[in-house]
Amino acid sequence: MTEDCAFDLDHYRELLDAARSGGYRFAFFDRDPEPGDLLLRHDVDLELEAALQMAEAEADSGAAATYFLMTRSVFYNLDSPPGEAAIARLRELGHRVGLHAVHPYVDLDERFDPAIAWHNPDPEFMSAEVAGVANAMEPRFFDRDRYRSDSNQHWRSGCPHADLAAGRYDWLQLLTHPEIWAYRGATMAETMTAMLDAERERRVDQLREDRIDI
Ligand SMILES: [Zn+2]
Ligand SMILES: [Zn+2]
Repeated sequence: MTEDCAFDLDHYRELLDAARSGGYRFAFFDRDPEPGDLLLRHDVDLELEAALQMAEAEADSGAAATYFLMTRSVFYNLDSPPGEAAIARLRELGHRVGLHAVHPYVDLDERFDPAIAWHNPDPEFMSAEVAGVANAMEPRFFDRDRYRSDSNQHWRSGCPHADLAAGRYDWLQLLTHPEIWAYRGATMAETMTAMLDAERERRVDQLREDRIDI
């Protein structure tokens, strides 16, 4: 186990190994959690490329997750060819795809499983039930003691790897944001800078493909 609990894909794989040592099984938002369940949840806020890297790492480890993708992101376009390819690849790797919804819009269509997670929710609607759909933060899926999140590259109550390995959670919803793990940086600001550097190169390629002289 790495000592510093780095936010990188190597340590993410160690988290998955820890979960396996702890006896957890990978579960989804299609039924109420049961003892021994680990619900891997990813809110894809910023880019699909990072999500795909994480998805490949999970598949290599025999893990399956639910990726919540946005239809109203200012950062990526699910209707673009790379967007369509990303959904296809996530499915191919055995992951589930839910909607990372922007309140009040629930744009569920055939691309998604009937599961949503609100992006930057206000407390008034965060945990409210949504008719016919699983809301990842409704009480049956969310319990303070059975929930860990890497928000802004910070674990509020420490990295969960040791507790996973020891089987200390009855069940757990583990929310991680792929961009934080796919790019290296000691802080969220450094990680975002690394992401922007990579995106600049990708943009240059996209401009060339779009027949722009650069
Ligand atoms: Zn750790
Ligand atoms: Zn979000």
